[in-house]
Amino acid sequence: MLPDPALVKERITPYIDQRGPDECWPWTASCCPGGYGKIKIKQKTYSAHRLAHYAAHGWIDANLNVNHTCIGNRPCCNPAHLYQGTQRQNILDMHAQRRWVYGENHHAGKRHSYAVVTAVRERATAGESVPAIARDLGIPLGTAYDYARGRSRKYAA
Ligand SMILES: [Zn+2]
Repeated sequence: MLPDPALVKERITPYIDQRGPDECWPWTASCCPGGYGKIKIKQKTYSAHRLAHYAAHGWIDANLNVNHTCIGNRPCCNPAHLYQGTQRQNILDMHAQRRWVYGENHHAGKRHSYAVVTAVRERATAGESVPAIARDLGIPLGTAYDYARGRSRKYAA
């Protein structure tokens, strides 16, 4: 059984970076390999976000996961971002997150116009150093190397 909610609250509060009510509250102590915060109370290790939910509500359903509404932010311990749900809901959230991350990359300017790709390739072929080209065009060095090698097809026509 879980310790008393008041004790739990007392133990976890110093490790939670409490920000604005809508912001994420990061766990500042150690985290599990999966990224969730963890804490030991009376020789038992618990997930920090699970305890945060428990301390805020005073009870927890042992059969349910504590999931995040701020998807992907596993160390977050803001009770307003935590809800109890099934593992299945958690998995659905993870899929949604992956789509989100992919979409974010897609819009983060990783695609360049064909003109930029060509310019990198031509200047590199002409003997100009790739870092100089990257600096000049304001694109990431790794991307410039890809374009110079003609390896990337990530450009819009
Ligand atoms: Zn959060």
